[in-house]
Amino acid sequence: MKRIAIFPGSFDPFTIGHEEIVRRGLSMFDKVIVAIGKNSTKQTMHSLEKRMELIEKVFAEESRVEVDFYEGLTINYCEEKGAKYLLRGLRTASDFEYERAIAQMNKNLDNTVESVFLLTAPEHTPICSTIVRDIFNHEGDISEFLPTNITMDDLR
Ligand code: ADP
Repeated sequence: MKRIAIFPGSFDPFTIGHEEIVRRGLSMFDKVIVAIGKNSTKQTMHSLEKRMELIEKVFAEESRVEVDFYEGLTINYCEEKGAKYLLRGLRTASDFEYERAIAQMNKNLDNTVESVFLLTAPEHTPICSTIVRDIFNHEGDISEFLPTNITMDDLR
């Protein structure tokens, strides 16, 4: 059976930290689905379509990465896709506390899906979409926080 992992998030925008987690995930899983959780109440910098387009560009050469979106419970989406793993990145202790609660609740909802956590590379620890977005909105240079083949022009 194929090992499929879902990497869920808002990815607004997708950063080099996210990219690294997906690439490392590919060494463990046959397929990684980067799935944007659609949240109609959340104000985002980029539309769902734009975010998907940018992530697709990052992994254009990688056939084992799929880009998708979902609504509702992540665990229901896992079942729909036949995924038995949820991939998440950990930067700090506060990430851990947040992720722990979600993973334990997900386990409660579906005992057959495992959450797998990868510690971020040290140099990616301070990178988070909210701050990157803020810098970008104030015309700061965020190029070093973006995946290698994404430029600031792509974000405009
Ligand atoms: P969410 O809306 O769930 O917070 P994000 O898009 O912020 O989604 O993040 C999705 C996943 O990527 C989360 O597991 C988060 O911890 C992880 N992540 C975010 N930034 C980084 C980073 N710089 N390094 C490693 N993992 C990261």
